[in-house]
Amino acid sequence: MRTFWSRLRDDFQLSIITLVGVLAVLGVTPYAVYRLGERNWLVGLTDTFLVSSTLMAVLYAWRTGDTIRPGQFLAAIYSLGAFLVSIKLGTNGVFWMYVLILFNFFVVPPLQSVIVTQVTLAAVCLFGWLHPGQVFASGYQMGSFIVTYELASLFAFVFAFRGRAQRKQLSQLATEDPLTGIGNRRTMDRELDIALADSKRYDLSFGLLVMDLDHFKQINDQFGHAAGDDVLVRFVRLVSDACRASDRLFRLGGEEFVLLVPKVDDAGLSGIAKKIQQCVREGLKRPDGKPVTVSIGGCLLGAHAEREHWLKEADECLYAAKDAGRDCVVIAGR
Ligand code: GH3
Ligand code: MG
Ligand code: MG
Repeated sequence: MRTFWSRLRDDFQLSIITLVGVLAVLGVTPYAVYRLGERNWLVGLTDTFLVSSTLMAVLYAWRTGDTIRPGQFLAAIYSLGAFLVSIKLGTNGVFWMYVLILFNFFVVPPLQSVIVTQVTLAAVCLFGWLHPGQVFASGYQMGSFIVTYELASLFAFVFAFRGRAQRKQLSQLATEDPLTGIGNRRTMDRELDIALADSKRYDLSFGLLVMDLDHFKQINDQFGHAAGDDVLVRFVRLVSDACRASDRLFRLGGEEFVLLVPKVDDAGLSGIAKKIQQCVREGLKRPDGKPVTVSIGGCLLGAHAEREHWLKEADECLYAAKDAGRDCVVIAGR
């Protein structure tokens, strides 16, 4: 139950698709029953189709975590539904086109929404123009509909576009370290938990390296904070270049970093740590040209069942590396 609420809270698209699902079932089912009762088969079956498709799309989104395809599917289905209801019920059905605009802009990306809402508008108006009196009472009414529909679409587009950009910004702020652009501690916690789950489910091995720059405070004290920041950015670049694309680097805070390495044994983990140590010693310089060094502690996930225990063991190795004189690698069990 907790995952149900946390998924609803954390995944905006999923929450919207679910809300739409609940509203569609509660709101459209009575219409479907009513239209089928009065033997208006086209509208009644269209409503039934909308409700069952919505249920299927919502279930698919919950099972797979993919909200993009169900969103596109629903946008296409609802657009077809709004078209059929408009041409069958005339002006009474056309009101649903405004609901369609809101729905589309909530569930699919803004540009796709523009396409699908404009195609639906064109289809309804073309049908109305070819069948005078069937959809719109007059040309004037059709003109008013087009203008109000376009204005509503424009507002929806602006809100959807801004909303998406802000959500992206917020998510970056919450998950990335602003100085170096790599994942922050929150992202690391999440990915370590995923690694723990994967190691149990698929019997995969993972290694963890905790890295801390040596005498970093001196760089700040002698050359200023900006020079220290520059060293941190260059350190991240060096380590990213030295490791594989599947390795994940995070900034734990200050001048401390964590590298998560999948599919590795202790010899492999030690090899990666030594490669990073060497790259840093040779490639990272202070403003006065002296080398910057790094101390590294590491361990395999092994029998650890908790993220905190895993990190603690790697951290203890890091302390051992510092105690051994810095610019040193200590891997548990080696
Ligand atoms: P050790 O070899 O024992 O690791 O010594 P150290 O000087 O590297 O470690 P210490 O913990 O004494 O100092 C870390 C310094 O890192 C202190 C802090 O001001 C600095 N620091 C933390 N975050 C940042 C940052 O974002 N930018 C800069 N420039 N400095 C930072
Ligand atoms: Mg340090
Ligand atoms: Mg430190």
